[in-house]
Amino acid sequence: MMRRLSVVPETPEPPKRTLEEMLTAIYNDPRADHEARELLLAVAYAVKLGPREGGASPLREARRVLGRDQIGRARYDALVAADAPRYEPPREAGNWSPSGAPSCMAPRLRPYVYRPRQAASPHDDEAVVRMRPLPEPIVHVGPDHVDPVDYRNEEGICGAQSHHRVLEKDPRTGWITAHWFCKRHKAHADRVAEQVREQNEQAPEPIPNKGGLLPCYFKADWAKVYAHYSKGWTAPSYGLCADDWPSAEQAVPRGRLRVMSGSNGE
Ligand SMILES: [Zn+2]
Repeated sequence: MMRRLSVVPETPEPPKRTLEEMLTAIYNDPRADHEARELLLAVAYAVKLGPREGGASPLREARRVLGRDQIGRARYDALVAADAPRYEPPREAGNWSPSGAPSCMAPRLRPYVYRPRQAASPHDDEAVVRMRPLPEPIVHVGPDHVDPVDYRNEEGICGAQSHHRVLEKDPRTGWITAHWFCKRHKAHADRVAEQVREQNEQAPEPIPNKGGLLPCYFKADWAKVYAHYSKGWTAPSYGLCADDWPSAEQAVPRGRLRVMSGSNGE
């Protein structure tokens, strides 16, 4: 574990801030959701105003003031784990098939036409229960009507329920985009998978997009703290502090970034 952490670039010291400046920065940090903000505020309190007697650790004080959840666990532990710097792929990249997955995005060749399901006839002798007569169908459009605003026609996609998932990795950021295809478009899915195969193999480790806020404000051995509260967590090679992560625009192709961060750490 320590050997792996040693490749992580040194976390630069967070800027020195007064309590007022710190609170202003935390409340205006768009990356902090309400839970991250509560954690940052608790640590800010503990660092700036917390008791000092006996050399008590500010993090221990933050843990105390954050209290416990409904089943008695220290809330601090979960909040720190949630701030562990990491990459989280988008929801649609999850293994949702067949239900809940986005619909098939293969190109549509013929326009989608609405075909209502044939209802069982109330006079059907084979019907177990003789049903009430159906009301006269209301026909608004002819059977070959093509709804111009149907999203399948508008976007020119198949739109059927998906079964095949192809993940594409961005060559600069390593971020994942999911492409979904239905059973009928298996061949299309295979083609797309082949198209992105090489690109995916060469894609860099994904730039983190979650967590990493504590190191932006406070100095501590955060690698150790995160590893303690987040099982199986490993430090991203882009560093622990969210301020240091490149944006998609700044990201450089794999290789060059490694060299730069390596020379930083030495
Ligand atoms: Zn399809």
